[in-house]
Amino acid sequence: MNIHEYQAKELLAKFGVPVPAGYAAMSVEEAVEAAKRLPGPLYVVKAQIHAGGRGKGKFKELGPDAKGGVRLAKTLDEVRAHAAEMLGNTLVTVQTGEAGKQVQRLYITDGVDIAKEFYLAVLVDRGTGRIAMVASTEGGMDIETVAHDTPEKIHTLDIDPATGFMPHHGRAVAAALGLTGDLAKQAANVASKLYDAFLGTDASQIEINPLAVTEDGKLMVLDAKVGFDSNAMFRHKDLAELRDLTEEDAMEVEASKYDLAYIKLDGNIGCMVNGAGLAMATMDIIKLNGAFPANFLDVGGGASKEKVTAAFKIILSDPAVKGILVNIFGGIMRCDIIADGIIAAAKEVSLSVPLVVRLEGTNVEEGKRILADSGLAIVPANDLGDAARKIVAEVNKAA
Ligand code: ADP
Ligand code: MG
Repeated sequence: MNIHEYQAKELLAKFGVPVPAGYAAMSVEEAVEAAKRLPGPLYVVKAQIHAGGRGKGKFKELGPDAKGGVRLAKTLDEVRAHAAEMLGNTLVTVQTGEAGKQVQRLYITDGVDIAKEFYLAVLVDRGTGRIAMVASTEGGMDIETVAHDTPEKIHTLDIDPATGFMPHHGRAVAAALGLTGDLAKQAANVASKLYDAFLGTDASQIEINPLAVTEDGKLMVLDAKVGFDSNAMFRHKDLAELRDLTEEDAMEVEASKYDLAYIKLDGNIGCMVNGAGLAMATMDIIKLNGAFPANFLDVGGGASKEKVTAAFKIILSDPAVKGILVNIFGGIMRCDIIADGIIAAAKEVSLSVPLVVRLEGTNVEEGKRILADSGLAIVPANDLGDAARKIVAEVNKAA
């Protein structure tokens, strides 16, 4: 689960991380009011979307010469003008994809005189199975490019969970950033506070880019991207409330209500499978047959009829879907329940695309009989390969 920059900064501030003052705004008036509460003389108006690259982004509705999603303002009138241009318009950045994201919230924050920009992140290193800190002097710009072109400029240090964050970790971060004296102390302090925040919130990533050195010698977090482990959100009710559903794919949100693991993809064959491994294999075999899956969907081991119906409806609500492949191995889940769910959903949503069903496992004969007697145009398949070939052929026939 991801949150907005302004929410991330409010959270980090509670852990003692230095951030400039700022306020969120949902309207032009709120933006001006927010600026009035800041000391000035420089303000920054920042689009709040769950994507980076906002500074270099472009608004779809404005011309190519218009400014991006992070703008400096020297007066309240400039704040007003920027807010009016940004709110409601669509910001396209390297991370949003071509469709871009509509800006519905702004963050009005203190303008800082920047002397230098660094990069500092806390994440889970899957290689070592530990929390790691990533530091680089090359902040502000695209860190992926730095990692690719000059990997020696990226420093990673693991933190042993048995000791937690130690003073030597702080010194190592400061050294990686080439800092000495008071700035080195500040860097060690920021790193230690970020580690506390990471552990304390069950974060999956905290990325600070840039971590700025100001002209008057202070370290400041100017941008923060924070994501949490969704599986830990049950013990952070306050953080769960920060979720902004408008930033997420509508179908993925709907699926999460039913505890379905659904990920929207670019192809045209909808998949309903139980078990993540079988779902991956199903997508692979669809590709092997020259077509592309429209989604990943794992209905889980013990899905109810309601869950299957919801899953089916979600797949069908995607206009890109030109055919559906149901691939269920009934181990914990019984095939007759799946069959009932498919029929209930198909009747409710008047099925207009070909449907291939491969059932195997517990009560499979009963399940197949229910489908055959349903009167629906369901194409039965014997195994995974057969199912993939059949759905691809059906979709090509219809095209
Ligand atoms: P993004 O990474 O989405 O482009 P950032 O918040 O990193 O957005 O802003 C882009 C750039 O704008 C930063 O690298 C920094 O140079 C500048 N910037 C951001 N916030 C401030 C601020 N409060 N004061 C001065 N400059 C800022
Ligand atoms: Mg940034």
